[in-house]
Amino acid sequence: MRRVTILGSTGSIGENTLDVLSRHRDRFEVHALAAHRNHQRLLQQCLTWRPAVAVLGDPAAAAKLEQGVRAAKLPTEVCTGAAALDAIAADPSVSDVMAAIVGAAGLESTLAAARSGKRLLLANKEALVMSGSLLLEAVRASGATLIPIDSEHNAIFQCLTPSATPGRRPAGVRRILLTASGGPFRSVEAAALVSVTPQMACAHPNWSMGRKISVDSATLMNKGLELIEACLLFGLGSEEVEVLVHPQSIVHSLVEYQDGSVLAELAAPDMRIPIAHALAWPARMNAGADFLDLVKIGKLEFEAPDFARFPALGLALAAARAGGTAPAALNASNEIAVQAFLDGRVNFPGIPGVIESVMTTIEIGPVSGLDHVREIDARARQLARAAIGTDRLRTEARSA
Ligand code: NAD
Ligand code: MG
Repeated sequence: MRRVTILGSTGSIGENTLDVLSRHRDRFEVHALAAHRNHQRLLQQCLTWRPAVAVLGDPAAAAKLEQGVRAAKLPTEVCTGAAALDAIAADPSVSDVMAAIVGAAGLESTLAAARSGKRLLLANKEALVMSGSLLLEAVRASGATLIPIDSEHNAIFQCLTPSATPGRRPAGVRRILLTASGGPFRSVEAAALVSVTPQMACAHPNWSMGRKISVDSATLMNKGLELIEACLLFGLGSEEVEVLVHPQSIVHSLVEYQDGSVLAELAAPDMRIPIAHALAWPARMNAGADFLDLVKIGKLEFEAPDFARFPALGLALAAARAGGTAPAALNASNEIAVQAFLDGRVNFPGIPGVIESVMTTIEIGPVSGLDHVREIDARARQLARAAIGTDRLRTEARSA
């Protein structure tokens, strides 16, 4: 029996992971589930999975969960706080950790799983973008197995047969083609982007995801973060990773080799496929997803991304090139800008506007360690909040 901890179990990736596990209960059991504050959903999950531990970040929500767990006489210990998250990620009885907390909040627990030699199923791309080679070093030092869950990186991992070592450049590769759906505004004119609402931005044409990554997909910052993620995971330079818009989201990415061969992974746009792949690797198991009907799909289209309408992509590329503390600053300012957009404090073009103002102000240099990453993260958040507070930026964003 493999024993799984799911960090972010009430989210889109968390729910998809439990769906896959429910099809293979003879092989997997759940050690712990963790989320932020949705105690109702976490209680339902505890009733189904009877985990040893359930963690909620919010103490008031944890108290409510505790009541529910006691009333149902479940064997589950309810905890709260960062140390509890790290403990369920590092528990010696756990074989696999799904890192699916959104944003920087998942950094420490993802690192805890990496340090304790687990199979780390990495959905939380922000943790890798922030900590860069520090996370990969932790994986190497402990002998952990890192399998990317992001569909594109999971596709690349599959195309780099027989297997990819995290952070090591694979032999014979010329470049990686990172596919992007283009998001809901792929063919919307620049002038119309000022009137984009959070609801419009969260309505992705092909994927149903959490709100933060949905907004990132709409600005193309998701692809920017993924470009940095790909460089780190596969040991490539930013010039070796090319973003390719592919509106159907069927080809999940491609690897071009030096002899001109191009390998691609194709699948229905359903996150249960990369999740099942990563859980079963190197074997295969049913994901519960639809099989691909290429005749029905008919055609697959590809086009170049528009850096002018989606400046977030260029900002991410610049951060990838700069390296050091730049990706952590980019990620932190994006998190603040996206939240401000969701709260109605910044308009859609204002998201890259905020990030650009942070990236031109903050000092970029080599990363000296994890504390330094945390410092840069805090500094970038502070600068982003200040930028949002100024009318100048809002006016600029409005007329952008
Ligand atoms: P989501 O918003 O649906 O879920 C996020 C989860 O994290 C929730 O369970 C929430 O309770 C938990 N969480 C948030 N803050 C927390 C905290 N401080 N402590 C504990 N738990 C906390 O997001 P999602 O769409 O599932 O995405 C999760 C991660 O996976 C993100 O990093 C995203 O970029 C990545 N990802 C998602 C998809 C997708 O299809 N949804 C695809 C690729 C990568
Ligand atoms: Mg992706």
